[in-house]
Order: sequence, then C-alpha cells, then structure tokens
Amino acid sequence: MTGNVRNRGRKPFLWLLAFGGAAMLLVGGSGVVSVPATPAPIAAPTGPAPGAPAPTVVAQVAAPSGAAPAVRPTGALHPVGGSATAPVPTVSPLPTASPVPTASPVPTGTAQVPVTPTPAPEPDSDPREIRPETLLVNGRQQPVKVRVPRSAGGRYRVAPGQAAPPRGKGKVIRYIVEVERGLPFDAEEFAREVHRTLNDRRSWGFRFKRVSRGPVGIRVSLSSPAMADRRCLPLRTLGVLSCWNGGRAVINAMRWNEGVPGYRGDVASYREYVVNHEVGHGLGHGHVSCPGPGRRAPIMLQQTKSLHGCRPNPWPFPKR
Ligand SMILES: [Zn+2]
Repeated sequence: MTGNVRNRGRKPFLWLLAFGGAAMLLVGGSGVVSVPATPAPIAAPTGPAPGAPAPTVVAQVAAPSGAAPAVRPTGALHPVGGSATAPVPTVSPLPTASPVPTASPVPTGTAQVPVTPTPAPEPDSDPREIRPETLLVNGRQQPVKVRVPRSAGGRYRVAPGQAAPPRGKGKVIRYIVEVERGLPFDAEEFAREVHRTLNDRRSWGFRFKRVSRGPVGIRVSLSSPAMADRRCLPLRTLGVLSCWNGGRAVINAMRWNEGVPGYRGDVASYREYVVNHEVGHGLGHGHVSCPGPGRRAPIMLQQTKSLHGCRPNPWPFPKR
C-alpha cells in the first residue's frame, strides 16, 4: 500500500495520511480486467462465495510494467509460452519522484488521481516514505518483485491456523497451504491470497476451508523451481511450470513472482489464474482449448503456456 509514513507528528505526515487513506479506500483487491464475452465452458457446482472487491483505481505508480520473463520451450504439462494477443493492460505512469507535499493536506482533484501538491522542499522529508515500487497494471496493485532462488529448503512449512470458509450452502472443501522453506514468501500471506482466490464468487463455487492438519484432498504448495520439478514428476516442468500432482497444486514460485507474458505484467491476476487452474485439476477438470480469437480464456486453458488468441482470464466463472 502506498503512503508508508514514518515521520509521525510532522505536517507532511498529515497529507500523506490523508493521501494514503484515500488510496486504501480506492485500491481494491481483485478487480478483473477483461469484460465478459463468453460463458466459462466448465460445469461446476454452484455455491455463492463472498463478494469480490471492485476494480481498482490508481494511487501512486512508479516503474513501468516489468518486462515479460524469458520463455523456454517446453513439452510439459504447463509450459510457458509467449502469447501476445492479450489486451494491453493500462499502466499509469504517474510521477515517482516523491514530491514533498505542502503543509496543507488539501485533497483536491478527483477521487481517482491524487493531485500532486506544490513541492515545498523540507530538509527532513524522506523520499523513501513513499514506496517507489508501487505499480498498477490493469488498475490492480501489483506485488513487489522479489528474487526467487532456483532451489530452496526442500521442505514445506504449513501455514498455521485455520481460515473459515464463507457462509453459504455449498460443499466445504478442506485444504492446506504450504510454502517451501527458504523461499522469500510468507506462508501466512500466501495462504491469505490463496484463500481469497478460492472463495471468490468467480471461483469454483465451493466453500474452501483452510486447515493446517488433518486429512485434506488438496494442498496448495508454493515451491521453488527445483522443488516443483521434483513434485511434478513424471511431468517435466523444467523449472518454469506449475502442476497438479499427488494431491498438490504445485505452484512454481518463479511464476508466482513474475507471472507470464500473456498477462502482460498483471501478476496479481496471474496468481489468481494459477491457483484456480491447478486446484481445478484437483477438482477433476482437464485442459480445454481457446474457443476463438478474442474470446475469454477458459480457466482450464493452459494460459501459462499460451493464450492461443484468447484474452487472459483467471476465473472459472468470471461473470458471477
Ligand atoms: Zn493444467
């Protein structure tokens, strides 16, 4: 989130606080970009899930969209490919030079784009107070990139505790979330993201209850590339793929970090895709094809490999 302020008690803080508050109100969670064109081709059980957050609005933007990661040819289950037919996401190149706000916290302008206040140099203003990494693509705040090692600890850490499923009548599915030790991702944070995705009303329509022990049919496991290769055998994942294997949605941490070219920098949406897709295998769904150029990609299309002319779509039921 923007507006990370440390110098409490100073006037710039007041402005930043107001600015940050507005940004927090405006920046939602999982607005999905594409406009529905076709129904999802996959039949699945019904069941309401909690409402999804509305699409987002810009707050502060720094760098342009990250370059698409390198592509390797593959022959495995979820290979990586470079489809370039997706709609171009919007990246708002707002200034990044951390302007020093004036004393008066006047939130002029529209609710969407904060007006840059007149710079007034103050000796102790710290440009690091506003995180320059904040990046919006498709109106969504994107996760900060980290460095993912090729291999990590080789053992998973289970996200502790539980997360309740949403209220409703749908079938409850217990699942476990785990993160390989040594990866630069927090297990609890990863678990929150997975839980939010699976219980979104546009997801599979079950009520997912995260647990940390006991019998489960599904584990969602963030894995280093080396770990993913091992866990996906006999599938050949070549260090870049994710898979469903042995009751696990093996999520490749490199892809979790970088996304794929077809999503054009919208890593937040790609994360939703890969969770829904791999768990979809766990629910018994197999791969399908792109129904036609410009159509919304089915969730069980191997969107990591290529969109084949379809538009990116991270949801099984995007119109819900
Ligand atoms: Zn698949």
